[in-house]
Amino acid sequence: EEPETSHSQVEKNLRSPICCIMGHVDSGKTKLLDCVRGTNVQEGEAGGITQQIGATYFPADNIRDRTRELKSDAKLNVPGLLVIDTPGHESFANLRSRGSSLCDIAILVVDIMEGLKAQTIESLNLLKMRNTKFIVALNKVDRLYRWKRCQNAPIAKAMNKQSKDVKDEFNWRLSQVITQFKEQGINTELYHRNRDMQETFSIVPTSAISGEGIPDLLLLLVQWSQKTMVEKLTYRNTVQCTVLEVKVVEGHGTTIDVVLVNGVLHEGDQIVVCSIQGPIVTCIRALLTPHPMKELRVKGTYLHHKEVKAAQGIKITAQGLEHTIAGTELYVVGPNDDLQYIKDAAMEDTRSVMNKIQTTEKGVYVQASTLGSLEALLECLNTSVVKIPVSGIGLGPVYKKDVIKASAMLEKKKEYAAILAFDVRVTSEARELAGELGVTIFCADIIYHLFDQFKAYINDFKERKKKETVEDVVFPCVLKIMPNCVFHKKDPIVLGVAVLEGIAKIGTPLCIRQKDFSDVGRIASIQISGNPVDHASQGQEVSIKIVGDNHGQCKEFGRDFGLEDKLVSHITRKSIDVLESLYEEDMSAELWNLVEKLKRYFKI
Ligand code: GDP
Repeated sequence: EEPETSHSQVEKNLRSPICCIMGHVDSGKTKLLDCVRGTNVQEGEAGGITQQIGATYFPADNIRDRTRELKSDAKLNVPGLLVIDTPGHESFANLRSRGSSLCDIAILVVDIMEGLKAQTIESLNLLKMRNTKFIVALNKVDRLYRWKRCQNAPIAKAMNKQSKDVKDEFNWRLSQVITQFKEQGINTELYHRNRDMQETFSIVPTSAISGEGIPDLLLLLVQWSQKTMVEKLTYRNTVQCTVLEVKVVEGHGTTIDVVLVNGVLHEGDQIVVCSIQGPIVTCIRALLTPHPMKELRVKGTYLHHKEVKAAQGIKITAQGLEHTIAGTELYVVGPNDDLQYIKDAAMEDTRSVMNKIQTTEKGVYVQASTLGSLEALLECLNTSVVKIPVSGIGLGPVYKKDVIKASAMLEKKKEYAAILAFDVRVTSEARELAGELGVTIFCADIIYHLFDQFKAYINDFKERKKKETVEDVVFPCVLKIMPNCVFHKKDPIVLGVAVLEGIAKIGTPLCIRQKDFSDVGRIASIQISGNPVDHASQGQEVSIKIVGDNHGQCKEFGRDFGLEDKLVSHITRKSIDVLESLYEEDMSAELWNLVEKLKRYFKI
């Protein structure tokens, strides 16, 4: 039986808005999806809710039923609501078309007890970037101390049942969250107080456990989108379709799960999708959706459709889909279409993302699951404070061949012999090979975790390297021996010096320039007014102790050199390399100029 559709919907010919759920881990995204879907999904098509590929469809009637208590006369102009089943920003990142979002609206879940967290902010940035409107679900209100449950009640009704203490705690936490959003440059307000939905985003308090606020969330989602997105939601006959996932299914080979946003797909349609190697042209063998009776469903059997109209989630089977890139668009070739033109169009999106990647000769290898997640990752790489140069990229699982590519850095820059694997599987062969070759693989499905891991690894690498090269590091300095300050002439030499240029550090090998240059010894200690220090800077007057290098003897003041000789750091090609690779942050332009000068002096 067809769900009843209202007249206005037919008149306006709107399609269902597409919604996805984002937020920090454990904020309750999955639970909220379950709660919105209700248990009736398990009982088949009760309430008209249908499970689709990668999404759940809520007919308007179902939403009207569930929000009756809230507003009995809710006018719904859209046929329903399509909610994407996979929570998290990876799925959102995938729902893209030419840089803008296919999701018409998003739910950003915030745990009322926790407030905004790293992933909330990451999600928020993605939403801003794609210019996607969202509603904040301020979840877990039932965790407020002494909350009285009101199963599935509208939030105002539930709130009325609470004691003053609960209300106070709620208001206090709400105002904190509003302040946190403000710090991110976003205005938010409790939804029924929100008078300006254009400027201010709405907050709906919810509980994914007992269902309070869920009616409000559903109604607001539908009403806000149908009110403000009429143009975007007007059904068009042109196919707009995005590949969400590429999956091997027993008996069907490689299939693609797509979200059909607009238009109609037919069995037998000629389609074009894209792969790294180029466009794939093939024909739709079957259009599949799950059986409505979920429990009776024999694993691997689906409903076949002759045609499917947007908006829906569908599984497509066809020949040659193996290398399809998830997150790209699917095109249909019409009878009068120029195939070459469509092939170019199909590749355009991928090309534009790939073109944005600035690869360098020395850098890490980045691997992501889909075009969308790759794009999100690279956007974050570009804006992150930690600069991570990228030498190569890949899509899909990490295989041995990727490890081999990354291992090229072992020769060029060892610390970059690493793979940043975002939201992808690493095959066990790849992991084994990486271990053998010394390629480090970082895996995370949260961008900032990946950054943190890599940052810690680079710091650790540097610290270890610094320890290994402690003998080789030489900071540049020029020292003038002060008259009447020669305290000891040899073994050790103890002198008062003025730092004319650069920085004098413990361990620095010093030499003097006569006909040629000759080594004097190493700085063993430095004192300023009798206090030991580890370095002295330009302009300072200090006393230094010089001992022989490598247990050898040092030179003798008065015999090998005198007051007229300046002491300079003995730099080498190697010491310059060490400064360059490990001490960049300690080196000023001035210090580099001095290195430059000494380099000419030592003719290196
Ligand atoms: P996700 O990582 O965002 O998908 O979070 P989940 O949906 O897996 O929820 C994380 C944990 O929080 C689980 O233990 C849930 O049972 C719990 N949880 C989620 N929503 C609520 C809620 O509204 N109230 C309470 N008390 N717990 C919740």
